[in-house]
Amino acid sequence: MTMPQHHPDDTLLIEYANGSLDEAKALLVATHLALCPPCRDAVAAGEAAAAALAFDDDAAADVGPVPDVAALPVESPPTVPKGATGVPEPLRRYLGRPVPELGWVPVLAGMKEYPLREFEGRGSVRLLAIEPGRRMPRHTHEGLELTLVLQGSFSDASGAYVRGDVATADASVDHQPQAGGGELCLCLAVEDAPLRLTGLTGAVLNAAAAVRKLVSR
Ligand SMILES: [Zn+2]
Repeated sequence: MTMPQHHPDDTLLIEYANGSLDEAKALLVATHLALCPPCRDAVAAGEAAAAALAFDDDAAADVGPVPDVAALPVESPPTVPKGATGVPEPLRRYLGRPVPELGWVPVLAGMKEYPLREFEGRGSVRLLAIEPGRRMPRHTHEGLELTLVLQGSFSDASGAYVRGDVATADASVDHQPQAGGGELCLCLAVEDAPLRLTGLTGAVLNAAAAVRKLVSR
């Protein structure tokens, strides 16, 4: 099993371990943990420290429910069937059905998304399916964007990301990810705020979104 090379940053792992991470990011981190033994160990150590603190000090007892990492199943080496994917828990439970049977929405040529409705009003949580070799529009972010690769790969100026890897981008990052060749790229993307598209395609799409907003008033 190849280990992920790109991990959620330490702050996210600590917040996950002490139970203070919001549900959307916790879902992404927990799904990464299913694919990343080193991060599981780090979080388990953090949970033990948080538990010890709570035991020592009643004031620390309100840290909230601590996710039980030991209960997460360890994924065996990925044997990804064609056209489907090995989606690990806990994400699989949130989806409730096989990936090909989800209500995919085309957003751009070569790119579809499946928004997880239970997160509506709490940022954006969606699966993205990008055809091999396809470029996404250039964009930046108003908040934090975390992208976990579940199948295939993508790359941008910051590096190449494969199954299990987490890419982190914020307002300082203006990028144009491109899916790797050979296999459909499937990702879980969690954003605090909508993407702000840049570049020419971006300008057109932003204008279209603004018009839609006006029309729907
Ligand atoms: Zn990791």
